[in-house]
Amino acid sequence: MIRVENLRKTYQMGEIEVKALDGVSLTVEQGEYVAIIGTSGSGKSTLMHILGLLDVPDDGTFEIDGTDVTNFSENQLAEFRNRIMGFVFQQFNLLKRTSALENVGLPLIYARNGKKSDIANEMLDLVGLGDRKSHHTNELSGGQQQRVAIARSLVNNPAIIFADEPTGNLDSKSAEEIMQVMSELHARGLTIILVTHDSDVANHAQRIIEIRDGKILSDAPNPNAPEVPKVGKADIEKQTPKGFGLHSLLEGWTLVKQSLRSLNANKVRTALSALGIMIGVSAVIATVAVGNGAKAAIEEQMSQLGSNLLMLYPQRRSRGGVSQAQGTTSRLSLADGKAVRDEVQNVVAVSATIDGTVQLKVGNKNWSCRVTGVDPDYEDMRFYHPQIGRFFTEAEVESRAMVCVLGVTPVRELFDGQNPIGQKIKINRRTYTVIGVLPEKGSGGFRDYDDAAFVPVTTAMRRLFGRDYVERFEIQIGEAHQMERAQEDILALIERRHRVESGTFEIRNLAEIQDAVSSTGKIMSLLLSSIASIALVVGGIGIMNIMLVSVTERTREIGLRKALGARRNDIMMQFLIEALIISFFGGCMGIAVGAGVGYLAERFGGMTVLFTQESIYMAFGFSAIIGIVFGIWPARKAARLNPIDALRYE
Ligand code: ADP
Ligand code: MG
Repeated sequence: MIRVENLRKTYQMGEIEVKALDGVSLTVEQGEYVAIIGTSGSGKSTLMHILGLLDVPDDGTFEIDGTDVTNFSENQLAEFRNRIMGFVFQQFNLLKRTSALENVGLPLIYARNGKKSDIANEMLDLVGLGDRKSHHTNELSGGQQQRVAIARSLVNNPAIIFADEPTGNLDSKSAEEIMQVMSELHARGLTIILVTHDSDVANHAQRIIEIRDGKILSDAPNPNAPEVPKVGKADIEKQTPKGFGLHSLLEGWTLVKQSLRSLNANKVRTALSALGIMIGVSAVIATVAVGNGAKAAIEEQMSQLGSNLLMLYPQRRSRGGVSQAQGTTSRLSLADGKAVRDEVQNVVAVSATIDGTVQLKVGNKNWSCRVTGVDPDYEDMRFYHPQIGRFFTEAEVESRAMVCVLGVTPVRELFDGQNPIGQKIKINRRTYTVIGVLPEKGSGGFRDYDDAAFVPVTTAMRRLFGRDYVERFEIQIGEAHQMERAQEDILALIERRHRVESGTFEIRNLAEIQDAVSSTGKIMSLLLSSIASIALVVGGIGIMNIMLVSVTERTREIGLRKALGARRNDIMMQFLIEALIISFFGGCMGIAVGAGVGYLAERFGGMTVLFTQESIYMAFGFSAIIGIVFGIWPARKAARLNPIDALRYE
């Protein structure tokens, strides 16, 4: 079944070359029980590792059951180790903090053939540990641990068992029991290759090969071999592993369970490495929520301010930073407004505007606020429909009537919240009648829209501010898509009327003005999100660091898993799952913390905060990506470990 010829393996130890194997040729038939004996350092383990496909020879041929295995790929090797071979090591090599049953079931995960854990149960019964199945490995004696290892080597119904000094760490009684189990396995038809330095142990075998300095010294049947009645014959099972199926879900769950266990064993470390992700994700969540809130608040304000509004005003020319007084040619008159309304297409409403901050007085109460002179169109354009009373009319504008409409702030300050309709109010010492109170608009940024009063534009010009020109026009256009065209037409008209070159007047879209305001918010959220992404990257590096430590720490475990038939992908998956669990954990905490920060910002920071489902998906997406991106390198490092180097790692 096994045929090797001229195997050579040389280790380079600095200057010295150690010929661990120096031309070994041998054949082992199916069902044989062979002991390889020799003093320490004679090359026994090296030979066994090569025969067990854990290591590759420098030179020589190697056939298993007629198949040349010297050029096998990693995955083919893993499959053979998993299905054809079973290993028993001197140090048992069981997983810590894991039950006997799970240890025995480990090779089943990598077999992918859907075999259930009842085989693991059966094998534990076979080695006499039926009553210790759920015990963790640290609750078992050395002899019991070795039996668990033997049960593990048997679960995939192998053809050959390799045992390297299986009794080396055991007392003589346990050793005798283990050798008993070995003989029974041989009786069941298994091929056994046993490595030992102890001739008593070797005497259990039926053939003894003596090895010294990497060369076979003698190879002969053992005259003292106990008579064992043959009962069975184990054959190399030519089953091909199935692809992914239902059992791989179970496999996935087993991987998750193992990852959770190893993360749980290092709670503080896990929590610390999740911290970076947590900070990053919470920053993302809070930033997005604050950004969305600001956007929603601005949109709300926009809708209250009126839509499709243009503002026309004379360009302020500044020389040397000092803004110059406007020349007469660039002063807007009421006639300009009328011309715009009559001559420009798509203009729906026009209101002249002139304003200033003045003193209001009722009885002995004073209040200073911004008073704006406007046309009646203003009411519809800006949604200033009075909650009580009315807005002024065209007739009142014509007659420069002494009437005013107040915002809620001056009403509160001057009238103690009492109905002011019909009451007299002094504005700059002249008496006006209050005819309406505006609805509450709230404040935007530093401006309180409710701290305002409105009078007819003509009244404001002649009686309040003493001017014969207006400051600007607010113009409403029918449809949003007509804005640009109307803007050009209005400018052309006004420039023609005043006979001035372009640049004398300026038109602004109110939406643009709002955009300028909100861009401050954008810069802010850009800043925050760059902090967030830095935190995410730092968190990712933290995960990578921890995973690298974990890989180094668990090198032996990785070696063992490979010996039991884990492929590169299996190891890779395991470490990726761990990285993902950490970042997922960090992500969840981050969402909670981010939500908390957002809540505090709303409660005590006066910010509008808006949480969306998208930001939560985004946070999960980010943490998953970070977990994979930064987990992949440690996982690859683990997956690429050579099984025997990993097993020997101290
Ligand atoms: P045995 O199992 O018979 O005690 P080994 O097969 O482990 O012997 O080792 C055979 C020889 O090869 C020894 O001299 C040992 O020092 C050397 N050797 C084994 N493994 C390595 C290694 N990874 N690097 C360098 N030398 C090694
Ligand atoms: Mg050895």
